[in-house]
Amino acid sequence: MAEVIDGAAIAKRIRGELAHLISAKKLQPGLAVVLVGDNQASEVYVRNKGRASEETGILSETHRLPAATTQDELLALVAQLNADKKIHGILVQLPLPPQIDAQAIIAAIDPDKDVDGFSPVNIGRLSLGLPCFVPCTPQGCMILLREVEPHLAGKRALVIGRSNIVGKPVAQLLLAANCTVTIAHSRTRDLADECRRADILIAAIGKPAFVRGEWVKEGAIVVDVGINRIADPALPGKTRLVGDVDFKGAAARAAFITPVPGGVGPMTIACLLKNTVQSAEKAR
Ligand code: NAD
Repeated sequence: MAEVIDGAAIAKRIRGELAHLISAKKLQPGLAVVLVGDNQASEVYVRNKGRASEETGILSETHRLPAATTQDELLALVAQLNADKKIHGILVQLPLPPQIDAQAIIAAIDPDKDVDGFSPVNIGRLSLGLPCFVPCTPQGCMILLREVEPHLAGKRALVIGRSNIVGKPVAQLLLAANCTVTIAHSRTRDLADECRRADILIAAIGKPAFVRGEWVKEGAIVVDVGINRIADPALPGKTRLVGDVDFKGAAARAAFITPVPGGVGPMTIACLLKNTVQSAEKAR
């Protein structure tokens, strides 16, 4: 039976270390979060990010803009935040309404304040192995992996999903850690076969319990990035969160596995705070 990797506890430890660093170095990091429209899930993420920032000693300001905001209005806010000396990190919560080109907005964020690590400059630096803001969810995955396996070199790693925010950057980080990396996606021919060979399996698909337990290699490390809300069969009318991996089936074969919730999710926020503190240190 797999050992469960407690992302919530590891994230709490990181937040504690950051709070200590902020007070020891007398830093005043500032994070600006921009929310456009009224996406319910984004509301929850933004609230959680704000709360975690304040608890850690990071000044957090949330800019709420109406769904009808134009691209030029959002660009103007980004320019204002780029110039604001109190602000060390700018996060524009995705998705954005359809009239706004998300790539143009992300590219407009000063790369030195792009704590999400999504701007072309940061992604380029990541691929080149240069210092950069490492995207938060992929960074969180790597911390969880290293927590249970410090020797990643030579391991076969399978990343399922090729999104710009999770799949591609996590594959880059695994490569930088000297893993032999495979990226699977919606056109992959035999996903089960790819899974069976993976010492490390990262699932970032967005489909509940899609990765079946019997696909998982004995002794593998499974990191489940997926967050899917499904109807709870045990409680009619209620919903619950599940990952992209069949947790029970995979846990019977893996050596280590992350749960959903309480795995990668809390690490994403901890890494956002980490990047913001890093930015404040650099600005000083
Ligand atoms: P996305 O929709 O952008 O990408 C999904 C990827 O899955 C695609 O690249 C696609 O090729 C792949 N895919 C789809 N069907 C497949 C199939 N049948 N076989 C193999 N691959 C398939 O999603 P995303 O933004 O990368 O997010 C993925 C999941 O991770 C979602 O559940 C999301 O909610 C979650 N997520 C969690 C966090 C966190 O903090 N824990 C952060 C970001 C995303």
